[in-house]
Amino acid sequence: MSAPRVALTFDAEHPDRETVPGVVDSILDTLGRQDVKATFFLQGRWVESDPESARRVVDDGHLIGSHSFYHARMPLLSAGGFRQDVRDAERVIREMCGTDPRPLFRCPFGAGADQERTHRLLAELGYRDVGWHLEVEDWEPRHTGADLAAAVIAGVEEHGDGAIVLLHSWPRSTGAGLPGLIGGLRDRGYRFVTVTELLDS
Ligand SMILES: [Zn+2]
Repeated sequence: MSAPRVALTFDAEHPDRETVPGVVDSILDTLGRQDVKATFFLQGRWVESDPESARRVVDDGHLIGSHSFYHARMPLLSAGGFRQDVRDAERVIREMCGTDPRPLFRCPFGAGADQERTHRLLAELGYRDVGWHLEVEDWEPRHTGADLAAAVIAGVEEHGDGAIVLLHSWPRSTGAGLPGLIGGLRDRGYRFVTVTELLDS
């Protein structure tokens, strides 16, 4: 039997709660040290404000998708506004990081992921929405790194092979918990893959 797979995904965006600086670097340090390739969904506005970190994500060899430009709820945008937002994010990611995020897109808040219109507009622009199986509200300030790691490990085990895990690039507990999370999943035999490896299989 082959090893069960898990895909860690990080939405890289402006924090919407209190955090500490440097979390994205500590996440990238951990992934590099543990030789794990993850998938990062970059918010255009974040890329503009922190191009160095965004470039490092790309240079470190992670898979890149788009997380929109403004991080608006996509169903609230007109069709024109939707197209503009997705194209703006793509332009910034291409210009600042030298990579094309297509075909991966993740709807902010997952809003619209269940709507035909979202999928039609994304397809027209060359994208598909990538959701997740497991999210543990890593942005909740009450989390410690240790309980975050434990919650992810338990959720992945419950899901079994092929879980897509949603994390964020900025919560303190995500940076703190990541080494234990990766170590714990490895101890249980999991193999880390990108979402493309899962979606294509
Ligand atoms: Zn987001």
